[in-house]
Amino acid sequence: MSMTTKAMRRLREVPIGAQPIDRFLPLLGEERIREAYKLADDVRRRLEGRIFWNVNSTARGGGVAEMLQSVLPYVRGLGIDARWLAIDGTPEFFRVTKRLHHALHGSVGDGSDLGEQERAIYEQVLAGTAEELLALVRPRDLVLLHDPQTAGLAPRLVQAGAIVIWRCHVGGDKPDGEEIGRGWAFLAPYIKDVAATVFSRDQYIPQCCDHGRSVVIPPSINAFSPKNQDMDDATVRAILVHTGLVEGPPGAGSPTFLREDGSLGRVKRHADVIRLGRAPTWETPLVVQVSRWDRLKDPVGVMHGFARLVNGAAPTGAELVLAGPNVNAVADDPEAAAVMDEVIVAWHRLSHSDRNRVHLASLPMADVDENAAIVNALQRHAAVVVQKSLYEGFGLTVTEAMWKGRPIVASAVGGIQDQIIDGESGLLVEDPTDTEAFATAVRRLLEDRAFAEALGQNARQRAQEQYLGVRHLTQYAELLKRVDK
Ligand code: UDP
Repeated sequence: MSMTTKAMRRLREVPIGAQPIDRFLPLLGEERIREAYKLADDVRRRLEGRIFWNVNSTARGGGVAEMLQSVLPYVRGLGIDARWLAIDGTPEFFRVTKRLHHALHGSVGDGSDLGEQERAIYEQVLAGTAEELLALVRPRDLVLLHDPQTAGLAPRLVQAGAIVIWRCHVGGDKPDGEEIGRGWAFLAPYIKDVAATVFSRDQYIPQCCDHGRSVVIPPSINAFSPKNQDMDDATVRAILVHTGLVEGPPGAGSPTFLREDGSLGRVKRHADVIRLGRAPTWETPLVVQVSRWDRLKDPVGVMHGFARLVNGAAPTGAELVLAGPNVNAVADDPEAAAVMDEVIVAWHRLSHSDRNRVHLASLPMADVDENAAIVNALQRHAAVVVQKSLYEGFGLTVTEAMWKGRPIVASAVGGIQDQIIDGESGLLVEDPTDTEAFATAVRRLLEDRAFAEALGQNARQRAQEQYLGVRHLTQYAELLKRVDK
C-alpha cells in the first residue's frame, strides 16, 4: 500500500531503518542480548505478517519522537514489521491537545476549557485521521498510539479489530489534582476499550486505567544515534565552534557525525544565538539546559538561578547556554514561540553583566540528525547539565546527560526522580521553584570537580544498565505477547 497517495493528507509515514541489537553486545553482555533475541523470535512468530504500527503527532522534536527513533529501528532489525505514522492536525486541534497535555501535568496551560467545543474540535480532526488509518491497518494488527493527540483514534481502531495499546508519556506528580482529573475525564471515553495502557511511572496510572491492563515502561535512549553516539573532544569542539556556540579556532576535528544508516553527516548550519557579547571560549565552563521552549521547563527560572550563581560570593567563570529547537520547527508545539519571546524579555531584564553570560540558542531543525549532533556536542561539553523543570513526564534530556557521564542538577519532579539518585548520580533540587537551592547545587558542582566527576561516572553506569533500548524492547515484546490473545 503506497503512502504517497494524495489522499493521505493527515498521516505521514516516518521512515525507519533496521538496526541489529548486536550493537549492544559490548555494553550489555551476551546473556542479555541472547534473551532479547529469544523473546523477539517468539513475538515475530506470533505476529506472522501483521504490522506493529506506532502513531504519534510529530516526526521530530520532543521526547516521544526521540524515543520512537531510538526503539523502532531495533524492532525492525529483529524482523518485526514496525511502522511509524505521524498525524497532522489543525492549529485548534493542537491547541486542545496542548491544553490536555498541560492538564495531565496538573497545570491549567492557557486556561481554556476542555468542554464540548474542544471535544468536537478534537474528534473532528481525528475522525478524518481514523479514516485514513483504517485504510492501512488490518484486523489484528497491533497499533501503539502515543499521547493525548492520538487517544481519540482508539475506538475506531478497536472496532475495526486492531489490537490497540495507548501509551501516555505524560503524567503529574499529584494524580488526584483537579486539573489532572479534567484531563482524564476528557480522555477516558476514548481509551476504555484498549488492550493495554502504558505509563512511564507507576504514579502516573490514573484511576480510569487502574484496570489491570496498565503497565509501566520507562523510556530509553539510543546509544548510537547522532544524539548519543560517542564523540571525541575534537569533534565536539569543531561542532560547537562551527555552530557559533563556542568561540575560537575549531581545532583539528571536523564537525561530523554518523547517521543511523552509517553514512557520514556534517553539521553545516549555525545556531541562532541571542547574546550580548562574545560566545564563550572553549575553556569557559558551561551550564547547559537543552529543552523545548516550554514554561514547564522553566527557562526563565534557569536564568534567574544562574544569575544568583554569578552574583554569589566567589566567581565561577561559568556561562549559561539555554538551547532549544528553532521555534518555527516543531509542529505540535504552538506555545514555543510565545515562550521564547518571554525568555527574551526576561533576558533583557537581566543586569548587563548577567546578560553577558547568558546565551539563548535556537538550534537548527532542518536536519534532525544535525540537530541531534549539536545537542550531543553541547551536552558533552557542559561542565554541568541542568534540567530545572517544574514538571516532567520522564525527562529524556536527563537520561542523555547521564549517558554522557555529565554532572547533573535537576528538579526532583516526575521521572527525573527515578533516574537520578540524589548525591550519587546527580543532584536533585527538592523544590523546583527554589532558585537559591538550584544555584547552590550548580555552584557545588562547578567548584568541586572531583565530586562532579564521580556523579557523572555513576550516572553513566546507571544509564547503561537501565535506560538503553534493549530493556525497552524486552518490555515491548512482553507486552505484545500479553495483549495478543
Ligand atoms: N531536543 C532536541 N533538540 C532540541 C531540544 C530538545 O533534540 O533543540 C530533544 C532532547 O535532546 C530530548 C527531547 O528533545 O531528547 C526532549 O525530551 P524530554 O523527555 O526531555 O522532554 P519533552 O520534550 O518530551 O517534554
